[in-house]
Amino acid sequence: MAAYNRIVLLGPPGSGKGTQGAILAERMGVKEISAGELLRAEVRTGSELGKEIAARIDKGNLVSPELIVRLMVQAFLASENANGFISDGFPRSLEQAEMYEKIENTPEFEGKRIDLALLIDVPDEYIVERILGRSQCTKCGAYYHDKFKPTMVEGVCDVCGGKEFAKRADDTEETVVSRLRVYREATAPLIPYYENKGLLVRVDGTGPIDAVSERIKEIVKY
Ligand code: AMP
Repeated sequence: MAAYNRIVLLGPPGSGKGTQGAILAERMGVKEISAGELLRAEVRTGSELGKEIAARIDKGNLVSPELIVRLMVQAFLASENANGFISDGFPRSLEQAEMYEKIENTPEFEGKRIDLALLIDVPDEYIVERILGRSQCTKCGAYYHDKFKPTMVEGVCDVCGGKEFAKRADDTEETVVSRLRVYREATAPLIPYYENKGLLVRVDGTGPIDAVSERIKEIVKY
């Protein structure tokens, strides 16, 4: 059993939450739940709600706290049999954290409270390069980066053999600036919030993917 089983990943856009979250979840045998992925899945359905979400995401703005809390709570409860979860990108504001805390204090969440907020620390100068170089396999969702994590065979997904890759619509230079601002204003206050609860641990998010995973392994002790 790992030292922690219900982990919130914090850090600026491009800090590696998605990449490290997927590695961690696989090694721990728990589910990774990505707030951004849940929202993008709704966008792909083409629903009215999806269109509203896309309009927010494409500008780098947050969607309404009620919506994201509802989606995440559903996903957390559905992950119950998986012995825990890794939350990537939620909560993203004090308002969301406080709404979620109320829900966590209900009997349904007994014994299932967040037990670690892991802050992936990456200086601003790394962020733009990390975000602008990244792409995702359209078939299986595996993440790549032109410079830091290219596919082993050019143009072929290492995981599923897929040959199509897409960049996220919000991974543009323009949107990155606004996402960083939203991070500083809305999300960074979660650092002292979790620190006060004794749940915050920082990890250095610079360097190769494997090196960061090793540092995380030392902390989570899986
Ligand atoms: P991510 O995949 O985590 O980079 O998220 C992509 C975008 O989805 C963000 O820039 C927001 O527009 C939206 N989003 C993701 N998580 C949340 C959240 N917890 N609350 C509100 N909006 C979110």
